[in-house]
Amino acid sequence: MPGAVRQVLGIFSTAFRVLGFVLETVMLGGLLLWRLSGWLRRLPKMLATDIECPRGHSVPLDGLTQCPSCGAVREGSLMRCSVCGATPAFLVCPACGLAVGNPLR
Ligand SMILES: [Zn+2]
Ligand SMILES: [Zn+2]
Repeated sequence: MPGAVRQVLGIFSTAFRVLGFVLETVMLGGLLLWRLSGWLRRLPKMLATDIECPRGHSVPLDGLTQCPSCGAVREGSLMRCSVCGATPAFLVCPACGLAVGNPLR
């Protein structure tokens, strides 16, 4: 029956189109989630109030500091100067003096 065959083919082509759409959505969604997860993994570091030095001391990310770039003494984030926008390559542990990488870099 040609009519029935055409109907079946129509269902198949619709199914394939839906499948293609689903695959495309899943791939795009996966790509989006992958990018989002990378961003979310960095977020706790950006919102944290302190980080750990190599010896496990707590290094505060906020406080009183003198910017090594412009020399301004200010209070706030140690990771980024609010005057000149410089981000120091490292923070210094107040307990042992070891350098800790700047999480914003
Ligand atoms: Zn500065
Ligand atoms: Zn330390």
